[in-house]
Amino acid sequence: MRLATLLLVLAASLRGEMKSVNPMIKKIVDSVSEERMAQSLKKLESFGTRDIFSSQDNEIQGIGAARRWISAQFKSYSPKLQVTFDSYKVKKKNRIFRDVDLYNVVAVLPGTKSPERQFILSAHYDSVALKRRPEGTPPATGDELVYSEDSLEKMAPGVTDDGSGTAAVLELARVMSQYEFEKTIVFIAFAGEEEGLIGASLYARKAHAGKQLIDGVLNNDIIGSDVSGNGHSENNLIWVFSEEPADSSSRQLARYVRDIAERYIPSMHVGPVFRHDRFGRGGDHTPFNQEGYAAVRLTTPNENFANQHTPTDTFANTSVPYTARVAKVNAAALASLALAPKAPVVTEEIARGPRKGQLSPLIARGKSRYDARLRWKNDSPEEDLAGYVVVYRQTTSAFWEHEIFVGNVLEYELKDVSIDNLVFGVKAVDRDGNESLVSAYVTAPRAKIEIEVY
Ligand SMILES: [Zn+2]
Repeated sequence: MRLATLLLVLAASLRGEMKSVNPMIKKIVDSVSEERMAQSLKKLESFGTRDIFSSQDNEIQGIGAARRWISAQFKSYSPKLQVTFDSYKVKKKNRIFRDVDLYNVVAVLPGTKSPERQFILSAHYDSVALKRRPEGTPPATGDELVYSEDSLEKMAPGVTDDGSGTAAVLELARVMSQYEFEKTIVFIAFAGEEEGLIGASLYARKAHAGKQLIDGVLNNDIIGSDVSGNGHSENNLIWVFSEEPADSSSRQLARYVRDIAERYIPSMHVGPVFRHDRFGRGGDHTPFNQEGYAAVRLTTPNENFANQHTPTDTFANTSVPYTARVAKVNAAALASLALAPKAPVVTEEIARGPRKGQLSPLIARGKSRYDARLRWKNDSPEEDLAGYVVVYRQTTSAFWEHEIFVGNVLEYELKDVSIDNLVFGVKAVDRDGNESLVSAYVTAPRAKIEIEVY
């Protein structure tokens, strides 16, 4: 290799390895206030219960008072926030013991350059207290608590589940509404999570039907406890669950949260869990996954099951410093996403043949048949776009291992690199170093073939 070429390669790889820090994002992360979050957590506890069947009219207690308070908080942060109740009349079914009015509380911070592209930060503000299962009916899961119509008699402070997530959504709405972002950010406090992800399912269904461009959902549920029931404790780890398959858009979002958040909050470890949610369970990210959106769940590795869905899920049993640290993880990732260019498109529709209309990845073996030739598309690129970064890793590796800044081009060839044993992706980066999500090159599973015999 000649020296000039070597230097070029070095410069490119150096640029690729460099992890940019945006001063504005740093400021946002630093502005997250533990004290403000403590106030929100205490206020959420003060409603006594936020069960969806509790009072809509009482001014001090119950879910009606809670949603009006959340809405008023959003409105007080900035006139830029468009605050609404996203309401539904839900029919009696399963855990919905009677017909009920359900209200998600939504605050939209419109993007300045690409307002049609959205990122959602969510949590659920409803709570529940369950009844002890009658003796002699042991469930397979080991759960001792059951849903029951008369559980309303109990207090359901729900401070960790999910007052913690709600306090994070409120705090980031407060901090981030003081800034401008290219893309739209939607802050949502969902209701009816405890009865089967009702509010989030209705919202996601409507978003999909309205062809909304939701590029990512960060759902925070149970981010308030840092001590498990078995005494295990850590305040520097947050789990991020993402659905299969290995290179789903949700998985790219999880990798992104880890990459960006650990850059701004180096003392926090973001631990992706390559699974849709905790074993056999789901959350408000689930309906977004089901509608085809990239959505992940942030949750503590140290749940205290004795407090969950009981009157002891209190402020006293919640760690404010931990909740605030997880809020900072969200702040870094969300701000970075909303400032970044959109992700490039790495597929195209097949024009003819039996697979006509299906999507095919824009990756090939090049003319030699031994190279990795990547192409991508980007309609109406942002004006501050600097170029693209090609990423790749072993198929067996969890995280991207190599990054190459390739400039403002729409194709790139890696000479003598096989496309068979590596996973490739590409992301867009702007002149401030803000990075988009990675678009990964994936192949659809092979269809089963029909063979006729005689
Ligand atoms: Zn929850």
